[in-house]
Amino acid sequence: MHWTEKNGLKLGGFASLGILAPELALVFCSRAGGFSEPPFDSLNLGEGIGDDPEAVRLNRAKLLDSIGFPPESVARGRQVHGTRIETVDSGGLCDGTDGLITTRRGLALAISTADCYPVFIYSPTEKVLAALHVGRNGAKAGIIGKAFGILYGTHHIDPYTAIAVAGPGICGDCYTVSGGDAAGFPPETIRTEDGAHRLDLLRFCELELLKAGVRRENIKSAGLCTSCSADLCFSYRRDGGRTGRHWTIAAIGPSP
Ligand SMILES: [Zn+2]
Repeated sequence: MHWTEKNGLKLGGFASLGILAPELALVFCSRAGGFSEPPFDSLNLGEGIGDDPEAVRLNRAKLLDSIGFPPESVARGRQVHGTRIETVDSGGLCDGTDGLITTRRGLALAISTADCYPVFIYSPTEKVLAALHVGRNGAKAGIIGKAFGILYGTHHIDPYTAIAVAGPGICGDCYTVSGGDAAGFPPETIRTEDGAHRLDLLRFCELELLKAGVRRENIKSAGLCTSCSADLCFSYRRDGGRTGRHWTIAAIGPSP
């Protein structure tokens, strides 16, 4: 992940996408450069979590203006750690939805996180984009496989040519889970030491993407742990549940 600064915002991008899919715009919006007070400092983009709604409004306006996405061109899900995936053609909020798919150029798909992984799948041949909110429950319930079912069944993408990008999320050292929560994940994603179970959710996402047929070299990860990186990231776990949310946003742009 490489960083650019704009209007005090610190924005993360993936240089390799410039070669793999130059028409795909994808940006991780770090916590820097916003208006919110602690513990939501400062670019909190999440509503209904205790922050001042006016600060959230200002944060979103500043961000979208800075990255050139009109507010009405942003589609989001009201995320519930489920597996519901909506195909969208216009901006707005989809209730109870953790996955969005679009073929509409210029329509931005935003995933809100603070430890869960934002995962984007893009087919450069079919020009279809999926954005997924992948937490422990959604992951275990198979949201990535479900997305490929739609991408393949409805949009006829070839997973072999698809690109997948995982934004920042909690790493396998920081994510302690209960034995019950660890159950059901493959052994290579769980590390157990002194009775504590640690889940490598990113590794699980990668395994799901590989299982769906994405080539290893087409899977890109931010390599940034939300819990380890307090200066750049909100972390629900690290901050005891009282913290902000950042967005990772992607849109299919005009062909270069
Ligand atoms: Zn970490």
